[in-house]
Amino acid sequence: MKNLVINCGSSSVKYQLFDMTTEKVLTQGLVERVGIPGSGIKHTKTGMETLARVVDFPTHKEAVQYVLNLLVDPVYGAIKTFDEITAVGHRIVHGGETLIKPTLVTEKVINELEKIIPLAPLHNPGHLQGIHAIMEILSDVPNVIVMDTAFHQTMPPKAFIYGIDYKYYEENQIRKYGFHGTSHDYVSSRAAEILGKPLKDLKVITCHLGNGSSISAIKDGKCIDTSMGLSPIEGVVMGTRSGDVCPGVLLFLMRQLRDVDLVSNAIQNKGGLLGISGVSSDLRDVELAAEKGNKRAALAQDKLIYGVQKYIGAYTAAMDGVDVIVFTAGIGENGVAFREKVCSKLGFLGVKIDTEKNNCRGKEVIFSTPDSKVTVMVIPTDEELTIARETQKCVEANK
Ligand code: AMP
Repeated sequence: MKNLVINCGSSSVKYQLFDMTTEKVLTQGLVERVGIPGSGIKHTKTGMETLARVVDFPTHKEAVQYVLNLLVDPVYGAIKTFDEITAVGHRIVHGGETLIKPTLVTEKVINELEKIIPLAPLHNPGHLQGIHAIMEILSDVPNVIVMDTAFHQTMPPKAFIYGIDYKYYEENQIRKYGFHGTSHDYVSSRAAEILGKPLKDLKVITCHLGNGSSISAIKDGKCIDTSMGLSPIEGVVMGTRSGDVCPGVLLFLMRQLRDVDLVSNAIQNKGGLLGISGVSSDLRDVELAAEKGNKRAALAQDKLIYGVQKYIGAYTAAMDGVDVIVFTAGIGENGVAFREKVCSKLGFLGVKIDTEKNNCRGKEVIFSTPDSKVTVMVIPTDEELTIARETQKCVEANK
């Protein structure tokens, strides 16, 4: 059984082919600049060097066709024919309030995804193009959609409602949705597995900190709050996204710039670590500049650390305590100094860390001390494997 996981962005296609018996990745790759001059593909068969080619991909269809041909390529491929692909799992950023669990793709589901486009105008159209391309080429293979928002659908209304006229919720579904759901789901379940306890008996705070970052509170095995909102802009400061800002900032920018796209650019592409530091969106560059005395870089770094500490404090209150804190994604998995700095303010919760154990990157580790009241862990996330597993479960349930 082999499942293909596809993540179609507006101009990109990321893919991984899994052998579901071993859960190993057979091939993976990335197509960039679909529909933009200079498009190309990077493809890696596990154990081989990466193949990089410049190819013209006018639409997602040509990109997906090229990827599929590489999967059956005698040298770079991992399968002999397309018949070996059992199912295709598609990552979907936004499922709104209707698509709340992994779902087999039908005409009705496609219509539903189209209705949700206004909630995710930058992401969902690309996903739909990917689904159409796969359906056209692999007409007999089941497609499953797995939503980033789904895991957070258990949030109570008091966590997801915004303090604006209720009609915008009723008429336009304006509310907090949350993102990175497959990651929060995976690392919280994995934490329970590592600790040998049922997830429903643990109060867990999961910190997915990468270029995009979100923090979730998981109680009784369910997400009860998360830092991202209607869009993936809310929450802690990110690579280029602002995170939480006073709504008055948006009003000010709207009056000043008089153009929604310019405001969007200011808060999504020119904000965050990049905006504050003026150096880079990458925490490594920001840390380096701060070490060399760049004050704005130090401020950007502090802003992120402070934000994570505040959310951990807030979610501890929301859950009436915390048993486990998990760090994941690029910064969470690799930011040794960053994790130490975040934890330095968590002594009031009884957090004690072992700096030797914390000195690790990209692997599962418990870095709190045995007498720490809270278990603090690093768990590398695996969103693609989660999608492959969910796809498998969904296909089997629909047999
Ligand atoms: P992701 O979006 O999960 O791929 O995470 C990407 C981010 O991880 C980058 O922008 C870096 O800021 C961060 N990162 C990667 N390695 C390190 C590291 N060793 N220390 C601090 N941050 C890191």
